[in-house]
Amino acid sequence: MFQPPVPVVIPETAGKEIYQGLSGFGSRDDNGCPAFCINHDFIETLKKDDCMDARNTPAPDLNPPFWKTTPLNRMTPEQWEALCDGCGRCCLEKLKNPTTGKVYYTSVACPLLNPVTCQCTDYDRRHQQMPDCLTLTPETVVRFRWLPKTCAYRLIAEGKDLPGWHPLISGDRRSVHRAGISVRGKAVSGAHVHPDDLSRHVIDRKLIDRG
Ligand code: SF4
Ligand code: SF4
Repeated sequence: MFQPPVPVVIPETAGKEIYQGLSGFGSRDDNGCPAFCINHDFIETLKKDDCMDARNTPAPDLNPPFWKTTPLNRMTPEQWEALCDGCGRCCLEKLKNPTTGKVYYTSVACPLLNPVTCQCTDYDRRHQQMPDCLTLTPETVVRFRWLPKTCAYRLIAEGKDLPGWHPLISGDRRSVHRAGISVRGKAVSGAHVHPDDLSRHVIDRKLIDRG
């Protein structure tokens, strides 16, 4: 469930201004929504039902803490899916410098990502819809070094524990939004950005790794 990096040359100084803007959202309400949300009009007209669903869906009870006792390659499909924190960070469009290999995140989300719920809107058919969407496996987790440092799969693969805001710890899917980890209110849908303009939306990597 990942947007792979697109090869393109990005100057090292790119993204500083955008990062400053994104980090200035300020306080959040009880539902984890930022005081200023760039998708607000979009939510009101098209996504309000999805938004409310995301706020009220409880996290699954999967006899925790399975992630402490079961290696990634032994997890059931249900456990594997439950491990995802729902941050949506991995579904942001990325650019890659073909010379240095450095990956740059942008504030533009895959067109299939609901920027409010931070969920894929067609997860079961995502590979038909988005052929570039990569599949995360126990093997690729360790190869995809561009994954956010907060990604639950990466944390477990590195022998680390899940943070307190992870829905499996908090028991509430909203905690990933309340903690400011998800891309809710920070990403614009790729449906509204031309691929040639992606380099104008590069953000500082620190924003993606921030826990
Ligand atoms: S197709 Fe779905 S899972 Fe894949 S990058 Fe896009 S939103 Fe994420
Ligand atoms: S936990 Fe990892 S796979 Fe799940 S949405 Fe976050 S970055 Fe993506």
